[in-house]
Amino acid sequence: MLVFINTPIDSIEFNGNRVFVKRDDLLHKEFSGNKARKFAYFLNNEFPGVSRLVGYGSPVANSLYSMSALAKLNGWQLDFYTDHIAAQVLNSEKGNYVEAVANGANVIDLSLVVDRQNRSCREYIEQVVLPADNQALFVPEGGRCLYAREGVHQLAKEISDWYSLSQLTELTVFLPSGTGTTAVFLSEYFSLNAPAICVKTCACVGDENYLSQQFSELISDPSLHPQVVKTDKKYHFGKLYREFYQIWQKVAEQGIEFELLYDPKGWMCVEKLFSDTEDVNILYIHQGGLLGNATMLPRYQRKYPTT
Ligand SMILES: *Cc1c(COP(=O)(O)O)cnc(C)c1O
Repeated sequence: MLVFINTPIDSIEFNGNRVFVKRDDLLHKEFSGNKARKFAYFLNNEFPGVSRLVGYGSPVANSLYSMSALAKLNGWQLDFYTDHIAAQVLNSEKGNYVEAVANGANVIDLSLVVDRQNRSCREYIEQVVLPADNQALFVPEGGRCLYAREGVHQLAKEISDWYSLSQLTELTVFLPSGTGTTAVFLSEYFSLNAPAICVKTCACVGDENYLSQQFSELISDPSLHPQVVKTDKKYHFGKLYREFYQIWQKVAEQGIEFELLYDPKGWMCVEKLFSDTEDVNILYIHQGGLLGNATMLPRYQRKYPTT
């Protein structure tokens, strides 16, 4: 249905080093790069019995918006379950929630549902929603599932084809992780098909142990997992930090805008990689997500007006 083009690889200068950037932010205007890769399976295959897509997660997440785009493209209804929708989110004029609703998404606040009985979103979906609807297609939080392998392996193939034509003798692919789905399937592909390329990532949601657990749920063999880079300080997902804003600005000055939830920590790790080792070739994957900047950037500007 949708043919994804091979996205370009640019390079920028960062702290005096060259960093290659895989421009998956340019993949598809309706999707952020990362989710388009993870959902490629659902765009490339037919699902004749399906009329409804079911998902859950944060109402401000990129995955909500991307699922709404997926549902719209396939002519499906999207029911997206969430623990709570803050008034601030309901009243916002921009960002993932508003754009998802504009795409027709039905976002359900489980705190207002009478038969919830303390169930998590996932439990509620599995115990209440799915048994009552055999035309529903369920995608776990953030697209964390084996279906994501197809699109992520395509991304890996694009990178290894580029690498084969380059003059490089080794390459580190870096990307920040949420569920770790993208990173672990990339790492799997390179381990098996292009061992001169290694994948490094960092944990943005939860800690390093959580991320390793997520890898293991998808791929049990730890030798296929990416290497996890740690920052000296601990950061909480979705919180604002001055050093995040500063590094985001520094990278933006090189001409490419990144998003503000995952990428600041990602670039801090790249900084660390350069300071720990010499002569590394790094390719950073720009995973899109720029729609979220419409809400994140004003928050940063208010909190750190002089930065
Ligand atoms: C979803 C997302 C991630 C996290 O991807 P995982 O596969 O869950 O690790 C990172 N960056 C952006 C911009 C995203 O939208």
